[in-house]
Amino acid sequence: MISKRIQAVQPAATLAMSRMAKDMQAQGIDVINLGVGESDFQTPDNITQAAIKAIENHQTSFYTPTSGLNALKSAIVSQVKTRYAADILIDNVTVTTGAKLSLFALMQVLLNPGDNVVSAAPLWVSYVEQIKLASGKLHAIIPNNPELKLTREDLDAFPEQIKLIIVNSPNNPTGQVYSKAEIMAILEWAEAHETYVILDEIYGQLVYNGTTFTSGLQIQSLENSRMIIVDGVSKAYAMTGWRIGWTLASSEIIKGMNKLLDHMTSNPTAVAQYAAIEALLGDQSTVETMRLAFEQRLNKTFDALNSVPGLQVAVKPQGAFYLFPKVDNSIMLAAGVNNTNDLSMKLLQEAHVALPAGEGFSMPGYLRMGYAKDQAVLNEAVQRLTNFFQQYK
Ligand code: PMP
Repeated sequence: MISKRIQAVQPAATLAMSRMAKDMQAQGIDVINLGVGESDFQTPDNITQAAIKAIENHQTSFYTPTSGLNALKSAIVSQVKTRYAADILIDNVTVTTGAKLSLFALMQVLLNPGDNVVSAAPLWVSYVEQIKLASGKLHAIIPNNPELKLTREDLDAFPEQIKLIIVNSPNNPTGQVYSKAEIMAILEWAEAHETYVILDEIYGQLVYNGTTFTSGLQIQSLENSRMIIVDGVSKAYAMTGWRIGWTLASSEIIKGMNKLLDHMTSNPTAVAQYAAIEALLGDQSTVETMRLAFEQRLNKTFDALNSVPGLQVAVKPQGAFYLFPKVDNSIMLAAGVNNTNDLSMKLLQEAHVALPAGEGFSMPGYLRMGYAKDQAVLNEAVQRLTNFFQQYK
């Protein structure tokens, strides 16, 4: 039998939904897959070329340092300086096989069995299982504000010592962005309570309609601090498949992660690291082109989705590339389903649209729609949803 540890883990709801959609597509069914968080853009050519050059130069037969090539860590340090006017050292950086592995390793490095981890609900599916695998205790708090952002009051109300707070801004799935004052309040609270804070900033470059993104690096330095930043190239550079992310933290935390990563991956793929160097140091105009496209899709799709009977996105997203509509209870009853998990299966089977349910994000009653897709595909998806829900109005 497989271990109890793994028996307790749930597959990622987003990937599971996407797998089902792909299976149906393989059977010739025209399914629109809005299940998974990947950009529909291709990786920009300059980045791909850098990887091809690395292969041609035979940069493939060695282990890189566990924490990543010095050239990549330097590129990260210099991007942090350019973007946030913050000074960090190479020892504050470790590069991982996607931001996902950064987060996984951080849970292992920070948590002892039973340690309390607090995050706002809804929250990204993988935090839940990563915390479980580190024997931590997740408390997904539903904040008392329409943007569903974690506040100082939520933290004050928590009755026990909190080991770790996770804040994801821009947020997957709500798209909400924390202001500088909101991030500052959480960091100050954490400092006073000897609590670690992971700021998952993977969507930091994808903010829209004049929204300002604030990084923790603009507020606090890393050394001697409990603030940890997670970022990567997956989302802003359309590089999901390359699997390069990183953690920025005090050198003590970074050393702890490297010890673990020594035995896990040795290092992220060398060729992908060369691609990431070009992403960070090369032409940045493609990031803006993609950001603008996402902004237009958000603006169109937000209004369209809100006109679907029974679906409502109360607060317009400011970043990332997801809409997280609440589903009207009465329409669920009329459709003969008990929860959004069942609804999302019915939508897949009958409307041929793959939207993961809120349950996976610790927030039943909602669906998540990724809008990193062509506008024509998004329009068709909204049309299918309208046709489906109209039957139960
Ligand atoms: N954090 C959040 C909130 C995400 O949505 C994702 C990707 N879906 C990640 C981290 C992981 O990104 P990566 O592809 O770099 O592993």
